[in-house]
Amino acid sequence: MTKTEQVTPEGSESEHAIASRPDRAEKARDDMTPYEAATYFFHKSADRLELRDEMREVLGSTYRELAVQIPVRMDDGNIAVFRGYRIQHNGARGPYKGGIRYHESADLDEVRALAALMTWKNALIDVPFGGAKGGVQCDPRALSSAELERLTRRFTSMISYIIGVHRDIPAPDMGTNAQTMAWMIDAFGQKNGYTPGIVTGKPVELGGSQGREEATGRGVVMCTLEAAKRKDLQFEGARIAVQGFGNVGYWTAALASEQGASIVAVSDVGGGTYNRNGLDISKVFASLEDAESVTEFGDGDSVSNEELLELECDILIPAAIQGVIDGDNADEIKAPMVVEAANGPITPIADELLLERGLTIVPDILANTGGVTVSYFEWVQNIQEFRWEQKDVNAELQKRMSKATAEVFARSDKDTTSLREAAFDIAVSRVARADELRGYV
Ligand code: NAD
Repeated sequence: MTKTEQVTPEGSESEHAIASRPDRAEKARDDMTPYEAATYFFHKSADRLELRDEMREVLGSTYRELAVQIPVRMDDGNIAVFRGYRIQHNGARGPYKGGIRYHESADLDEVRALAALMTWKNALIDVPFGGAKGGVQCDPRALSSAELERLTRRFTSMISYIIGVHRDIPAPDMGTNAQTMAWMIDAFGQKNGYTPGIVTGKPVELGGSQGREEATGRGVVMCTLEAAKRKDLQFEGARIAVQGFGNVGYWTAALASEQGASIVAVSDVGGGTYNRNGLDISKVFASLEDAESVTEFGDGDSVSNEELLELECDILIPAAIQGVIDGDNADEIKAPMVVEAANGPITPIADELLLERGLTIVPDILANTGGVTVSYFEWVQNIQEFRWEQKDVNAELQKRMSKATAEVFARSDKDTTSLREAAFDIAVSRVARADELRGYV
């Protein structure tokens, strides 16, 4: 869709929500909402880049927001009504792209924040996409597979007005997976015909890409290896703590351990497990066949999610939810390097506190771009109807992760800014330039 169409779809709650202005964004406090935190980093970048006011207004707000009610027949015969969102932040560089999250906290504000981060992420890793995000406010663990399928089908049909292969392409995020994408393809296809390119992160059997499932974790590890090299931190034998043991956390832990690091702790929503001599990640994974949580793993001591963040280790990788490192615990973080595999795990005030203490923070918009990069490869394969081999996917991913990491470090050195500031400055200038060239602003 071109930026000039400005369609207001049925059910649109607000077409163009105006975001925080700098005065609000200046509030470097922990009580910022996720969207305020995301726009805080944007406005700081806009100041450094001296963006024009109109450009700041366009990039500091979302293009389109669709909010829908999703009535779902539950297994017990009752109907439960959920709230779902699809938010498109900026489409200057290509079709909107971003995952769909099923989580209790996935409200309008959180999905807005994640949509904006996708715009910066896609620009930084230089894939031809704009930024979007979707979410359904629910606890997926409390729903049966049949209930999840009904919810997904209904949600897909409700957002079908604004998604499309060249318009907006969803993918998995927290609480969703390849199976969710398979239901989405089927629901969308019932109306529109066979359209594998409508989502990415789908099963390989339905046109998914080799290597997509582990791509975010693989990208996190590639980026961490490069960052460690630049910071003279020996990766082999490095003690790494990973918060979150879902798609991103598991693959990050497994692949980092394959590269010789020692994963001393992992956790999930129930808590964590710690072993100072290193955990065998394949055994932790296998233990989940009979256990609800990694806390039940026999070869480790149990730790809380809060304790995990404060462990003595060389690299800390939050790979679960946002805002886990804040003003209260920033001074307790002992790892000299924090790699943001999750989106927004460090609040703005914690970011300042960690930087003051000289820690290296590898920001989310760089560290976790592996997933969307391989999603881009998947989309290309769907459009061309041509399959890549896994080794080609990994080689292309490595090229892009290395290039983006080098660009961020070089910019940070040149401007004496943090890695996050450098990453935002590169991304924001690219999107601003695209909007300028289109004549949109
Ligand atoms: P997932 O649902 O597969 O796993 C989430 C993990 O976090 C689970 O282990 C869960 O138990 C844990 N968790 C949930 N709530 C928690 C809490 N309050 N405290 C501690 N742990 C908690 O999700 P995922 O796809 O691995 O996504 C994890 C993070 O990575 C999210 O921030 C997501 O936005 C980000 N991310 C994901 C992708 C992707 O391709 N899946 C890409 C980029 C970024």
